Amino acid sequence: MLRFARVNAGYGSAQVLFELDLAVEKGEAVALIGRNGAGKTTTLKTAIGLTRLTGGRVEFDGRDITGLATHRIASLGLGWVPEDRRVFARLSVWENLDVGRRPPRPDAPEWDEARVLDVFPHLKSLLDRPAAHLSGGEQQMLTVARTLMTQPRLLLLDEPSEGIAPKVVEDLAEALAGVKAAGVGILLSEQNWRFAAALADRAVLLEGGRAVGEGAMAELTAEGSRLAAVLGL
Ligand code: ATP
Repeated sequence: MLRFARVNAGYGSAQVLFELDLAVEKGEAVALIGRNGAGKTTTLKTAIGLTRLTGGRVEFDGRDITGLATHRIASLGLGWVPEDRRVFARLSVWENLDVGRRPPRPDAPEWDEARVLDVFPHLKSLLDRPAAHLSGGEQQMLTVARTLMTQPRLLLLDEPSEGIAPKVVEDLAEALAGVKAAGVGILLSEQNWRFAAALADRAVLLEGGRAVGEGAMAELTAEGSRLAAVLGL
């Protein structure tokens, strides 16, 4: 579904990603794991066309999207949820969902308020509340829910569990598992390996903008593995 082939990318003259290969299939969740500065956010931004690509190729569903403008890439069904949770603070939860609404796609699961609220039941009691009055975890749920209203085929999630209370992190992992089960692919950047392990099928380990390991989540988190060493397990 999403494929990077030997991607070199960065910002201005600073190269951050080196020869990066990556693939996310339909209904699969892949976690990008690595220390601060390893290039996780840059990988997600490259998928959505927000970095300077200097080599390689990015494909979405077999289509070359290298160099396409961000809004064009988004319109193909890539939903980006950035690290800084972009809710419309003065709008209610319901209005935030409404802002995201796009017509369904023939080749993707169809999302409307009812289905989105089934995935995030906690938002049901908050529909009239201004988004500014939500907790960080609730805002994160709302951002993902609003992105689902855009009918994505693949979600790019940047550190979704960061700064969220542990109980809410569990709810979020469960909700995202439901999104994956509905057939939406997920590429996530995550430092919380428990969260990543709960959601991801595979992980790619990044160091210095290079993929230095890749495999099934269970295999990578096994005692003595390279990922375990990086994560200090
Ligand atoms: P973190 O968890 O800290 O966000 P990360 O793995 O997501 O880490 P990136 O944010 O992708 O890492 O950063 C990778 C490298 O790119 C870092 O060295 C960072 O300083 C650099 N970088 C990030 N954004 C920019 C930018 N806008 N301009 C120049 N360099 C940048």
